[in-house]
Amino acid sequence: MDYEEIANILRDFRDERGWNKFHNLKDLAISLNLEASEVLEIFQWQPADQELTAEQRAHLQEELADTMMYLIYMFDKLGIDPGTAIKQKVAVNHQRHWPKIDQ
Ligand SMILES: [Mg+2]
Repeated sequence: MDYEEIANILRDFRDERGWNKFHNLKDLAISLNLEASEVLEIFQWQPADQELTAEQRAHLQEELADTMMYLIYMFDKLGIDPGTAIKQKVAVNHQRHWPKIDQ
């Protein structure tokens, strides 16, 4: 499934419920961070090296999808192509962070 197909599914879901009026950038940013916090909650108080249970993994998949959906809604609202934005940011990161030579 490509990005445009996913964005269309999300637009349809939002519009069928009349939720576009609630999707301003501020509330999308808040929702994005709340969903990202739900990702953190899965790991709270767990040892860093502990394997995820099947239930935790399924829960993590849902919360990552929730987080990604708000990212897509924000890119869509701004009219920014996420692939272009990521490529541009990776280019910036290459300038900021030189590869470590002594590995
Ligand atoms: Mg969630």
